[in-house]
Amino acid sequence: MKILISNDDGYLAPGLLALADAMAQIADVVIVAPERNRSGASNALTLDKPLSVSKVSSNVYFVDGTPTDCVHIALTGLLDYRPDLIVSGINQGQNMGEDTLYSGTVAAATEGYLFGIPAIAFSQAEKGWRHIDDAARFALNLVKHKLDHLEQPYLLNVNIPNRALAELKGIQLTHLGKRHQSEPVIKSTDPRGNPIYWIGPAGAVKEAGEGTDFYAIEQGYVSVTPLQIDLTNTELLAKLKKVW
Ligand code: MN
Repeated sequence: MKILISNDDGYLAPGLLALADAMAQIADVVIVAPERNRSGASNALTLDKPLSVSKVSSNVYFVDGTPTDCVHIALTGLLDYRPDLIVSGINQGQNMGEDTLYSGTVAAATEGYLFGIPAIAFSQAEKGWRHIDDAARFALNLVKHKLDHLEQPYLLNVNIPNRALAELKGIQLTHLGKRHQSEPVIKSTDPRGNPIYWIGPAGAVKEAGEGTDFYAIEQGYVSVTPLQIDLTNTELLAKLKKVW
């Protein structure tokens, strides 16, 4: 098996290294990841400049672009084979509810999925890396034991509580919860008196009932959400077809 690994926290992030170490037990792994932290990059492709790929070792590359750039380059120009699986992460911090739209971790997996390759985004809820090796071990077990029967390609979003492996309660299959809208930007002034704006934090959790990713994590379970890409609002489409 050949596994391509990327992330959005950068190629030196502990979460990526732990994930790569774990996957190396069952596969040939190659890392193609951003040069620096690109969290929040979503599915952005860099179109306004060429990108450099730097080789760190025989199977580790970093790119001065986004997570999506990394997977795109790996699949269309860098690798001379097609990976069997793409794993992204393990992100520092959860990616649940609408976070999944902004997440570079999810985006790297999505890019692989768009090329027809099964892909999994892994994130660790609660920052701090404390139990990152346990999260990586859980990721390995999931890849080893849970995917055989799945129709390919699939796109899975996995959030893992920041706990020791023995403290994880198991897997809950979930749908995405919802957040309130983000907090407002924080307005300030730079040293020259010009206005500057910091994007504010994500909104508080709004829909976190049973069955959601937020609920699973809250209860100490690993949340696994199958994702899809089609954003069509089929309900509204049907209504519009009757009146337009
Ligand atoms: Mn990140």
